[in-house]
Amino acid sequence: MAYEIPADLMVSVSGVRGRVGAGLTPEVVVRFAAAFGALLREEAERPLVVLARDSRTSGPMFARAATAALQSVGCDVIDAGLAPTPSALFAVRNHAADGAIVVTASHNPVEWNALKFASRSGMFLDAEEGARMRAYLGDRNPPRAGWDGLGGVRGDETAVERHLDAVLAVPYLDRDALQLRRFRVAVDCVRGAGAVLLPRLLRELGCDVIGINLEPDGRFPRPPEPVAANLHDLERLVRETESDIGMATDPDADRLSLVDERGRAIGEDFTLALAARLVLRHKPGAVVTNLSTSRVLEDVAAEFDVPLQRAPVGEINVARRMQEVGAVIGGEGNGGVILPDVHYTRDAAVAAALVLQLMAEQGQPLSELVGRHETYTIVKAKLPRDVGSPERAYAVLESRLGAPAADRQDGLRLEWAAERRWLHVRPSGTEPILRIIAEAPTERAARALVEEARRALSADDAAASGGR
Ligand code: MG
Repeated sequence: MAYEIPADLMVSVSGVRGRVGAGLTPEVVVRFAAAFGALLREEAERPLVVLARDSRTSGPMFARAATAALQSVGCDVIDAGLAPTPSALFAVRNHAADGAIVVTASHNPVEWNALKFASRSGMFLDAEEGARMRAYLGDRNPPRAGWDGLGGVRGDETAVERHLDAVLAVPYLDRDALQLRRFRVAVDCVRGAGAVLLPRLLRELGCDVIGINLEPDGRFPRPPEPVAANLHDLERLVRETESDIGMATDPDADRLSLVDERGRAIGEDFTLALAARLVLRHKPGAVVTNLSTSRVLEDVAAEFDVPLQRAPVGEINVARRMQEVGAVIGGEGNGGVILPDVHYTRDAAVAAALVLQLMAEQGQPLSELVGRHETYTIVKAKLPRDVGSPERAYAVLESRLGAPAADRQDGLRLEWAAERRWLHVRPSGTEPILRIIAEAPTERAARALVEEARRALSADDAAASGGR
């Protein structure tokens, strides 16, 4: 009988997420992990799967359920235990494994957990691979192994350390200069998996580390997304300790957010912009980001006279485009930095090292490095879409808003480059709404853009219902 996915689960291209004990139970985890194992068995007789988890209290339970499921379909499991997502994905290539399952709900609140699936490339599943996996949740049952075909389990105690070594070997780092500079860094890992990596990395780079929330027990003391509004404790810590910089990670440490030496959270957009500036100083080349990332990165690329390409939203889309164009750096405006010298996945440790190196080379405090950039404001809104399809909405917006440039890779992105503003509209994956995001030099201009879009669509809705 076909398995029916519970309604309160959020199934995405590369994973499944739910509230612990409600949508997400060990039974659900077993279903998905077995389906993933079956997918890997299409290409390998005896697949090897890296398994890791962030610090959530439900992590060990779900990791055990996933382990049993993988064994039952004939996969061998390498258990990396508590580890950041980038460490787990780094271990995939390290072991020449066939894939990975990371038990993490990333930046989502404490009551959530999730499975994220990665392929042998050490990158998350793409749309095609995700669809092939979900076939095993439908009418194709995963073929189970008999007594003599069950997979085995072994531990990997050094996954985080090997990842750390790879970050320390990034060619742009001058470790002697960093040792000499001895930055004082305030750190907030929100009691997540970043706590087992980031403080160690910073000490290896000669920093004085002062931390809060470094106990990786999954009891997040604040909303775990590292957006500026959630970083007040870190801002205070920077001021009280007169630190050079504050660094915050999300629970699985693929995103990094910064606080300047004055104790002001500068917003996640600057993480990638600063990291890109450092890399481009050494190695000019293409930069890739997604369609919703701030123009601040575009300004940096323009300053170095290198192309900036925008890919559809989703880490895998950015990573794949980076490979296609041979990008020197890329990532997302949410603090997710991807550096090909280490791997094609977002990595907070990489981001931290690059930003410190930039500070050392420029010899300026973070607030000054940030102050050199134009400022922008991003405004987000939701538009209910009762009338018509997204395609209809895109056509209306494109014709009525009269933007000089339109991009249809992922929803609709309209850009007015001369006025330094853009608008990106795409359907929500979970609600019958359109998500709308606009950026402009001032908040007022960004809001005006959202309002203009709203008016154009409601005028169209009124015309459509009047014509019925
Ligand atoms: Mg994350």
